[in-house]
Amino acid sequence: MRQQSTLRTTVSIDGVGLHSGHPARAHFHPAPVNHGLVFVRREHAEQPIPADLDSAATFDYATTLRRGSVSIGTVEHVLAAAAGLGLDNCLIEIEGPEVPILDGSALPFVRLFHAAGFERQEAMVKPLEIPSAVEVLREDKRMSYEPGGPGLTITYEIDFNHPFVGQQELTYVLRAEEFASRIAPARTFGFARDVAELRARGLARGGSLHNAVVLDDTGILSGPLRFRDEFVRHKVLDLIGDLALLGRPLQGRIRARKAGHAVHIEFARALHDALTAPVVEVEENESERFRLGDRRRRS
Ligand SMILES: [Zn+2]
Repeated sequence: MRQQSTLRTTVSIDGVGLHSGHPARAHFHPAPVNHGLVFVRREHAEQPIPADLDSAATFDYATTLRRGSVSIGTVEHVLAAAAGLGLDNCLIEIEGPEVPILDGSALPFVRLFHAAGFERQEAMVKPLEIPSAVEVLREDKRMSYEPGGPGLTITYEIDFNHPFVGQQELTYVLRAEEFASRIAPARTFGFARDVAELRARGLARGGSLHNAVVLDDTGILSGPLRFRDEFVRHKVLDLIGDLALLGRPLQGRIRARKAGHAVHIEFARALHDALTAPVVEVEENESERFRLGDRRRRS
């Protein structure tokens, strides 16, 4: 168990939206204990958007949050930076429809948070442990969870028919000290042959060789990789960001195979459902009643 933390001071960063191509600016403000990670668009200050599963709206090549008629796109890398470093409470104010893509990784957010500094707060983090195993299967995509802490262990496997990607597997134990060097620098990736279709659908309009690893059929168009297995590291990054929508640090062991944002979110919802599933056995003693009551309040 550790204390909750927020930033010492407000910090800001500028860029463009990956999908909209519009200029985007993000401001990160300190926030009180139990505030959580909450987005707000400057032009819709009346409608804050908590980073939780109720806000998770669409998952097409990025995770978009929505409350009412207000949405914020491409939240997963900044959420990964926050979850990866243990930033619990922050008001994330966005100018524009999307979080800026920056270099396509979580590293610029990590550097920004480190520059602001972290402030320990007078409340403890309550880790989330799901009492039962959970599995989600969608065609050849698979995700599974087993309880068992301390901390979160993620094993991710991808398989792309490309000479620079192929089959990659990584097991990562989430630790704030290692997130910055092992996971945060891994950039998002895509295939040049998909760009025209994505742009026709209103996606990837801000995408460039500067904010993604871009592959053609046989090579890499965007310069050297940061890691030989940068692709699977980025999938771990995306998953850490999507799991941040659970609202508390998860404990246990996860295996993911060939998944993506849509399966990540479906899996997070299955974890949440397993946590709040009705309890069949009821023992008539005080401590058990308290535990069940506590569980229902969280649902
Ligand atoms: Zn990503």
